[in-house]
Amino acid sequence: MPEVRTAVAGDIAECSALLELLFSQEKEFTPDSLAQSKGLSLIIENPDTGRIFICESDGEIQGMVLLLFTVSTFLGKKVALLEDMVVAPAWRSKGIGSLLIDHAVEVARREGFGRITLLTDSDNEPAQKFYRSKGFSQSGMIVFRKALGTETTTCNSETAAWMCKECGWLYDPKEGDSDNNIKSGTPFEAVSSGWSCPVCFASKSDFDPFS
Ligand code: FE
Repeated sequence: MPEVRTAVAGDIAECSALLELLFSQEKEFTPDSLAQSKGLSLIIENPDTGRIFICESDGEIQGMVLLLFTVSTFLGKKVALLEDMVVAPAWRSKGIGSLLIDHAVEVARREGFGRITLLTDSDNEPAQKFYRSKGFSQSGMIVFRKALGTETTTCNSETAAWMCKECGWLYDPKEGDSDNNIKSGTPFEAVSSGWSCPVCFASKSDFDPFS
């Protein structure tokens, strides 16, 4: 019999695989297993942020859904976002999604949450029908997002390029420096202090971060 329980750290790999399935079918997202695993462990390690529910039968995880916790100042209550609803392809149309939603709603109700909000693709009619059948109704609000990831990427030492002040040659860690046997993927910080510019032989200290 399928049973719904709260996910623990040992479930992260299987949940991450389910999320990859979900994101590969959603037009706005590209799967990234490292990012998915990090996200899942952030929730599991910080139970105040949310809870992941999985549906399991005979040790096999068939599907998952999660609640993320926040506050509504309008309601003066805790509220939840329902995210990442996914059922493994072999287990679809068997009531697993229904079990997961019912469980998440029941937990939220029991713990005093005032509302559950979810987003679904505007052209995914079956999903919309499913959520309506579970008592959700469409809101007139529209979704706005601002990604905050781009700026941090350029500051990440593992991907940041450095420029030679003398000749303008760029050290790109994605390429390394084959003339000096520096492998691709080597951050500038990891290059030896005796290394010098392959073009003008200026020293490593003559390089500045390039942005
Ligand atoms: Fe140079």
